[in-house]
Amino acid sequence: MTLPDITARIAGAEQNAGRAPGSVRLIAVSKVQPEARVRDVLAQGQRCFGENRVQEAAGKWPGFREEFASVDLHLIGPLQSNKARQAMELFDAIHSLDRPKLANALARLAQEIGRCPPLFIQVNTGEEAQKAGVLPASADDFIAECRKLDLPVTGLMCIPPAEEEPSLHFALLAKIAARNGLKGLSMGMSGDFERAIALGATHVRVGSAIFGERVAG
Ligand SMILES: *Cc1c(COP(=O)(O)O)cnc(C)c1O
Repeated sequence: MTLPDITARIAGAEQNAGRAPGSVRLIAVSKVQPEARVRDVLAQGQRCFGENRVQEAAGKWPGFREEFASVDLHLIGPLQSNKARQAMELFDAIHSLDRPKLANALARLAQEIGRCPPLFIQVNTGEEAQKAGVLPASADDFIAECRKLDLPVTGLMCIPPAEEEPSLHFALLAKIAARNGLKGLSMGMSGDFERAIALGATHVRVGSAIFGERVAG
């Protein structure tokens, strides 16, 4: 697959779902990819990227931002409270708000810095012990708590369990978002982004289908 293949498939999925062209944002997930591959995708015009580690992103994106205008960088992986400041300075959106401690840290920093990137709350739709995110039953309360802190929550994010049909999880996430008046839905990866778009995804996070398999290490 190449970038044009993926953007064409996204356009097709939007059309099949009766959704407006361009209503789905492609986040090209560049974690662990060699710099040359990332630069190649930047050179093709892609500007929205996702990284799952603050440290790794800090190593490569300030340089790319100097080289390419209008980069839109999203944090899609877990965030430790002690890295929250760095994340707020580095990223244009954070998709992994998943607990009160982090919400409080972000709220404090937002006050201090005077701005905060748009936030997605991660929901552990599969209720997996090893996975981050608030449980579906706690999502409404946590969303309300974040709003009380004046955090700019724009949507929800999920990573469905690997062995399950993802559509059930996408539908659950969409339902929780709708009843809380949230428009953003960060869901869908290389193997399932078309199904996510059918169920309302506004942001799909696609890595290996664009860049090729991630190099281990
Ligand atoms: C790595 C990653 C992706 C991209 O996965 P692919 O299967 O390579 O498309 C999407 N979302 C998150 C949270 C990830 O960590």
